[in-house]
Amino acid sequence: MSEKYKIVACPTCEKPVEWRPENKFRPFCSERCKLIDLGEWAAEKFKVPAEDGLSEDEFGDGNH
Ligand SMILES: [Zn+2]
Repeated sequence: MSEKYKIVACPTCEKPVEWRPENKFRPFCSERCKLIDLGEWAAEKFKVPAEDGLSEDEFGDGNH
């Protein structure tokens, strides 16, 4: 109950993200959003469709 993390908005999709040490994508909500932001220069050539809620959760839990 004592685990309180600061909530930040993902710079890419503005989804609320817990700023926790094990979130290596912070301040992004997922690897995808991080890559999108880092690859913003490329996004002008390759438009990345921002569909929230479909594959994003798979990215978040996929590190077994
Ligand atoms: Zn995001």
